[in-house]
Amino acid sequence: MNFINEPLLELRRAPVRETLVDALAALDAQLPLRVPVIVGGDRRDAPSFESTDPGAPDRVVALATSATTADVDAAVRAASAAAPAWEDRGAHARAAILSRAAGELRRRRSTLAALAVRECAKPWAEADADVCEAIDFLEYYAQQAIALEGSNGLVQLPGERNTIRYAARGVVAVIGPWNFPLAIPCGMVAAGLATGNGVVLKPAEQSPACAHAVVEALLTAGVPEGVINFLPGEGDVGAALVAHPGVHTIAFTGSGAVGLEILRKSTELAPGQRHLKRVVAEMGGKNCVIVDADADLDDVVPALAYSAFGFAGQKCSAASRALVHERIADALLERLHGAVEALLVDQAQRFGVDVPPVIEPATQERVARYLQIARDEGARIYQPSDAPEHGHFVAPAVVDGLPRGSRVAEEEIFGPLLAVQRVASVDEACEIVSDSPFALTGGLFSRDPGTVERVSRALPVGNLYVNRHITGAMVGRQPFGGNRLSGTGTKAGGPDYLFHFVEPRVVTEDT
Ligand code: GLU
Repeated sequence: MNFINEPLLELRRAPVRETLVDALAALDAQLPLRVPVIVGGDRRDAPSFESTDPGAPDRVVALATSATTADVDAAVRAASAAAPAWEDRGAHARAAILSRAAGELRRRRSTLAALAVRECAKPWAEADADVCEAIDFLEYYAQQAIALEGSNGLVQLPGERNTIRYAARGVVAVIGPWNFPLAIPCGMVAAGLATGNGVVLKPAEQSPACAHAVVEALLTAGVPEGVINFLPGEGDVGAALVAHPGVHTIAFTGSGAVGLEILRKSTELAPGQRHLKRVVAEMGGKNCVIVDADADLDDVVPALAYSAFGFAGQKCSAASRALVHERIADALLERLHGAVEALLVDQAQRFGVDVPPVIEPATQERVARYLQIARDEGARIYQPSDAPEHGHFVAPAVVDGLPRGSRVAEEEIFGPLLAVQRVASVDEACEIVSDSPFALTGGLFSRDPGTVERVSRALPVGNLYVNRHITGAMVGRQPFGGNRLSGTGTKAGGPDYLFHFVEPRVVTEDT
């Protein structure tokens, strides 16, 4: 397979930064954007909710139209009606269109990054990575679909011809998150489209404009009307979509609570429904970084700080718990405190910012609640930065000295809070990780190849990173997704992902 990741922008170069600043100014001049419902190519624009800039909440980024129950039904019908002809075009033709959509995103990459900066407060580097990952998903799944169509690994006998065809399942409902507002919806949609399905996308209510930009790129590239449909709205729109009997596959990235509800609902058969729904779910984590006594703290400290506090910890891959060998815990904490002090907590648009505002006040409240628990439990809280006054800021915090079983160390917080705990050995750390109901990402710092081997085999996590940061999985290189309550074990950006969007059909012919 001839795939390489889209190169990131060189933000060190002044002309590159200037292009982005210009793109942001041009975007600001257009705000608020209008985000319509799109069903079968028809756009309905009657704004009923808005997305705002987390760094300046009175700046409205988008005025969006909320889909109605009737829109949900019409969208599923449109996708269902358009899907067979789309599938019949074959993987090569579909791939060419997806690749053209990737080209559209490349052409607009500064504007798209600016949009992620404004709508979700992604710092530039993360916003640019988000655009690149969206491009990667389109190109990667396009190529994978071609390979899937051409594959036939069945055993043949004289007088018997066996063929396997991976047919589209029908209609894919995509329910996307706001934290990778371009890449993740784009990836799930691209998987559905590459394999010949019709798609209905329900974006996160916090980021309708980013998702809309992806949909417009797909339509401009030639995805036929009806094959992709777009339903902005709140959770009730997603719930109606999940419950619709015409949906075959549900691709979801978001919270564990919503994921479980989707899994539960997906098993209910509506009258007349003749198929089982399949759920591809990427949910939460409580990701641990294990630091052994022989680890190089020069590597550990920046990697840990970035994993925990990059994008204010709002990645499901983020580090939220460090399990540190007691022999080096004091040294690590001291240096980690220094690293946290040095983090730049500021508006997303400022180049070099580490910790931008969080997405909404609910996140501020959630982090404050967990800090209060830590305080009540007698833990030490280190939270040195002054957060800017305007915007939904949360200063990054390191907590240590928590009692065993503390909720702060065991529950997903999804904000800039890192719990540091001491362990007597790597084996004790492995037991703690193995006892967790989550199994998304994990990290290990060790210089001993034997330890690396042992821990790699022991941990149940979907993505383990050794001697580096634990976020930023790259399409094709680090297929991403978790096990246990972190998800259905499906790996976005990996060689198996498309299998979840197809149904295999085998034909055996006597010859
Ligand atoms: N794929 C992202 C990463 O590796 C995380 C995705 C998410 O937060 O849902 O950092």
